[in-house]
Amino acid sequence: MSPFRVLVLNSGSSSVKYQLLDMRDRSRLAVGLVERIGEQTSRITHTVPATGETREQNGPIADHETALKTVAEELDRDGLGLDSPDLAAIGHRVVHGGMFFTEPTLIDDAVITEIERLVPVAPLHNPANLTGIRTAMALRPDLPQVAVFDTAFHTTMPESAARYAIDARIADRYRVRRYGFHGTSHAYVSRATAALLGKRPEDVNVIVLHLGNGASASAVRGGRCVDTSMGLTPLEGLVMGTRSGDLDPAVIFHLQRVGGMSMDEVDTLLNKTSGLFGLCGDNDMREILRRIDEGDEEARLAFDIYIHRLRKYIGAYYAVLGRVDAVVFTAGVGENAAPVRQAAIAGLEGLGLAVDGDLNAVRSDEPRLVSPASARVAVAVVPTDEEWEIATQTYALIGGEGADEKRKGS
Ligand code: AMP
Repeated sequence: MSPFRVLVLNSGSSSVKYQLLDMRDRSRLAVGLVERIGEQTSRITHTVPATGETREQNGPIADHETALKTVAEELDRDGLGLDSPDLAAIGHRVVHGGMFFTEPTLIDDAVITEIERLVPVAPLHNPANLTGIRTAMALRPDLPQVAVFDTAFHTTMPESAARYAIDARIADRYRVRRYGFHGTSHAYVSRATAALLGKRPEDVNVIVLHLGNGASASAVRGGRCVDTSMGLTPLEGLVMGTRSGDLDPAVIFHLQRVGGMSMDEVDTLLNKTSGLFGLCGDNDMREILRRIDEGDEEARLAFDIYIHRLRKYIGAYYAVLGRVDAVVFTAGVGENAAPVRQAAIAGLEGLGLAVDGDLNAVRSDEPRLVSPASARVAVAVVPTDEEWEIATQTYALIGGEGADEKRKGS
């Protein structure tokens, strides 16, 4: 039998998330996280979903190499080690592929060099992704390893959506343009929404709202992204857990000139201590909803600002697409927070959009419609699955058995 497992690795600056998937039946064989790499208090949590067994190891893990070796040992204990003949490939999440990488790509030295060249536009993410790639390549040099880029799905955006209105020569010199992120999620969810509607992706226009701790919206026409809310970096667009999203760029000059803040301080402010957290001290939507129930005005205002921005993007992408078949909510907030969905769509009957209170209140892990049967435009909740998307793209690239059918059916 040809190899049928794919290991998905998501290497962050101090963490490695991983999932080992069986491509024959989409089952998760192992799921885990190594966190606080480089600190004394590192931890690996390894779960085998089939048995429900979870193992935890605490203690210093010095670097990504040690982290991946620990992951390999954990997999070995379950008979799922990296040297198993059933392992077909490793799929790596890479945050920034610039304009260069429009597709998942088999990794070789030239690809590594190109990902490295993109470090100036993704200084936090690409170096960590590269460390994961290099370490995995050293452990299994003979195994196909594939880079799946967060930006790739958005490379179909027309120039009118992708360019900022600044001096074109300066923009070109420094590669300043809108790249967009969360691409594997937008790709997966837009396709799964078409399947939910019983249609082909080519035949539907969808607005995808990926609302997690990071949040982004996209306009997808016939399976191709035509606009998305994140830009050069994941800071632009919606209000997020700790990121401001859109703001007048002059706020930055003002904070420096008048507030005396340094560039790094403003960077930290906008990325780490703004968004819902900056507005009310909490970035978890569950906590914000609980506080609103208790009559907390600060939490209410944070929620209202979050919703106002979201509604503006729904309206904007409606205009970008012209005809919309579905608005779909995904990720932690989008999948779980019924009040967010209700408030985002309220009063938009003129656009053919409505939410059915009973359907919206249902909690489920399945893709589902929350709009009334009579609605002109579907409103849906589709749980995202970035690991499955990375695994299927990886498997398809290496010519895995039945890979195309798996992608279509997702
Ligand atoms: P993600 O980045 O997709 O993992 O989403 C994480 C965020 O989802 C958390 O910070 C919470 O704000 C939100 N979230 C998770 N579960 C719920 C829930 N039951 N209700 C509201 N928000 C939730």
